[in-house]
Amino acid sequence: MEKESSSKKIKSSNLINQFIMERTNAADSIMHFRFDKKRVRILTSIEEVAEKCKGIVYWMFRDVRVQDNWAFLFAQKVANKNSVPLHVCFCILPTFLNSTMRHYKFLLKGLMEVDAECKQLNINFHLLHGEPNQAILDFVQKYKMGAVITDFFPLRLPLFWLNDLKKKLPDNIPLCQVDAHNIVPCWITSEKLEYSARTIRNKINSRLEDYLTQFPPVTKHSFLTNQKFKKNDWENALRKLDIEESVKEVPWTIPGYNGGILELQSFLDNRLAHFHTMRNNPLSNATSNLSPWFHFGMISVQRCILEVLKYKQMYKESVETFMEEAIVRRELSDNFCFNNEKYDAVEGANQWAIDTLNQHRSDKREYIYNLNELEHSLTHDDLWNSSQIQLVQEGKMHGFLRMYWAKKILEWTHDPEEALKWAIYLNDKYSIDGCDPNGYVGCMWSICGIHDQGWKERNVFGKIRYMNYKGCERKFDVKEFVKMWGGKVYNK
Ligand SMILES: Cc1cc2nc3c(=O)[nH]c(=O)nc-3n(C[C@H](O)[C@H](O)[C@H](O)COP(=O)(O)OP(=O)(O)OC[C@H]3O[C@@H](n4cnc5c(N)ncnc54)[C@H](O)[C@@H]3O)c2cc1C
Repeated sequence: MEKESSSKKIKSSNLINQFIMERTNAADSIMHFRFDKKRVRILTSIEEVAEKCKGIVYWMFRDVRVQDNWAFLFAQKVANKNSVPLHVCFCILPTFLNSTMRHYKFLLKGLMEVDAECKQLNINFHLLHGEPNQAILDFVQKYKMGAVITDFFPLRLPLFWLNDLKKKLPDNIPLCQVDAHNIVPCWITSEKLEYSARTIRNKINSRLEDYLTQFPPVTKHSFLTNQKFKKNDWENALRKLDIEESVKEVPWTIPGYNGGILELQSFLDNRLAHFHTMRNNPLSNATSNLSPWFHFGMISVQRCILEVLKYKQMYKESVETFMEEAIVRRELSDNFCFNNEKYDAVEGANQWAIDTLNQHRSDKREYIYNLNELEHSLTHDDLWNSSQIQLVQEGKMHGFLRMYWAKKILEWTHDPEEALKWAIYLNDKYSIDGCDPNGYVGCMWSICGIHDQGWKERNVFGKIRYMNYKGCERKFDVKEFVKMWGGKVYNK
């Protein structure tokens, strides 16, 4: 499956205009929309906006978009209620987890689109530098902001910044969080670590009636600032980075909201019909490919679901399967990371899985590869090598092969800890949708059996679900896939 290059894509999508109309039909602004306050968590003891403040801050991090963004909408509501300007701040860090130039360029281009849209709406966009717990605090104090509203990202580092900012903010400044990524806010779905899709499914689906609503528009802001701010320096933003530059941008993705909506259009027109039957075939172009835009929050999953639902009569099974993946499985990943500090470690697995992996820790491995051999596709398995080439070149491996790929890393490394570490490293480094709860959960599912059950016991894997080359051959034309990506067989 080779993806269309961005230049070949149609340059406009009528979905963009359609969504503008749908928002205006929902309400003329957030002020006339029944906003569900359960979407918001107030993290500080103070709730009231500081008196005589000069603005409200939306600290944007996970959800890099203006429209269809509950955190942005709530921030505008608070700013309007207090008759003050609205400021969106994004803190750019010299490094973030294993992000590379591939991720940063995608992110920065999306942010430039946000900046331009904010300008049209009289909303101030600020590209700040450094750790948000300090940069946002400095901004709030310097420019006399009255409240901070932020989105929700359940990984350790963003949660640390959030808690630290909460501690450091002056007593009169409230800090609120809005889950703009999940349809049902993560803390509403469940207060505990869920065992599997089976245990969380109904907790999400039974609440969709309340949360899967239309969005009102973020509108032109009426309250303008008279303060002077530093100009956003996009050139310098790239220069200040301390990241791996050799991992280049991927050609098939157009960063930002508009690019994401084009991909949605292409999914609806060409792929949704086959999603149910063909999505597990790496040779068929049947999945949505929306994960890069979902990961960076450049388009809203909720918006996509509202649109996909319009096809329910035509493609019932595909629509239901897509909803299972994009809502239940994705929100399960956030539940896992939010409620399990060890979301990327073997200790974070269930006891049965830790026990079985320990029992097979000293099993003889037929092949052992080092990180360099894995990274450069130098194993004896041409399918695995081809998948790794796809990941490096395209920035995205097909979902079915991601499972096979990670399980083989367990089979070919010294121990489960090394396997998990390298799978996460390679996934985060090359995958354009990497550094995401879905990635940690995907690796933990494949290697440590989370959200899964025990299977027939075997060498190295113990009771962790096994996958092999022959099984792949039964599912799709492996030779064709190998021909497409050029993975070779290397003998040790
Ligand atoms: C080892 C491994 C690593 C993975 N790494 C990532 C990652 O870094 N980032 C990432 O977003 N996903 C990851 N996944 C999950 C899944 O493979 C991808 O979300 C999917 O392949 C993305 O392609 P798509 O948008 O075409 O998905 P589609 O099949 O079109 O699904 C639509 C959306 O549903 C969600 N989704 C689909 N499958 C899953 C799943 N198994 N778990 C959670 N959500 C899912 C995604 O948001 C996806 O964009 C990983 C899975 C495994 C096994």
